[in-house]
Amino acid sequence: MRKPLVIGNWKMNGSRRSIAQVLDGIEPLGRQSGVEVVVCPPFVYLAEVAPRTSAVGLRIGAQHVSEYESGAYTGEVGAAMLADIGCDYVLIGHSERRALFGDGKRVAGQLAATLRAGLKPVLCLGEDAEQRQLGETRSVLLSQLAAAGLVGGRETEQLAGLVVAYEPVWAIGTGNAASPDDAQQAHRWIREALGALGGEVPILYGGSVMAENVAELMVQPDVDGVLVGGASLRVGEFTAICALAAKA
Ligand code: PEP
Repeated sequence: MRKPLVIGNWKMNGSRRSIAQVLDGIEPLGRQSGVEVVVCPPFVYLAEVAPRTSAVGLRIGAQHVSEYESGAYTGEVGAAMLADIGCDYVLIGHSERRALFGDGKRVAGQLAATLRAGLKPVLCLGEDAEQRQLGETRSVLLSQLAAAGLVGGRETEQLAGLVVAYEPVWAIGTGNAASPDDAQQAHRWIREALGALGGEVPILYGGSVMAENVAELMVQPDVDGVLVGGASLRVGEFTAICALAAKA
């Protein structure tokens, strides 16, 4: 049994003040033994948040990373820089990055750069509403895994720390989460596609996770945790989600 993993994606929200308040509220989660809790603040706040999270047993992640090591890439942030300031995880291929910034083509390079820096990549995958309606969910997931170089013959050691997050695009920010059965089905497809690696890789569900639906998602055999957007900045809701995930 893997320890459940709950990741909060704060997206482009917050200020120094509001983030300090959220951290005050969620600090006790770092002492909760049955769950690993990660928060992903915007880049500019990472260095300030990292000492606070590490002091209380919380983990910290970035929302994006460059596929390049360093150099003339204005506006980008390298994986070694994230490791340097104490990051543990990096979100890669979030659907907002894919849709708005064309990151679908970058995921293989980002994954490699993240692993080289010794960080844990959280590769986000998922179909949109039209693809779901056309019955293309499985093929979309397989092609996103293939674009990340994850289908066929990768050695477990090369991918130590990899996490996958199934995030159906139609469920993100809509209040309309996937049903537990649909989430389980998608997670099973992903685990099977990962082949020998599959048993090692935590697969998270993301998309309108709330305290009221997290337990039914977490009891599914292939759901190892959740990626939480909107609810992760609401201290009471996020605390309840983590407590329920720990119990599942
Ligand atoms: C997300 O953006 O990764 C996400 C899951 O958002 P929400 O929980 O708000 O649907």
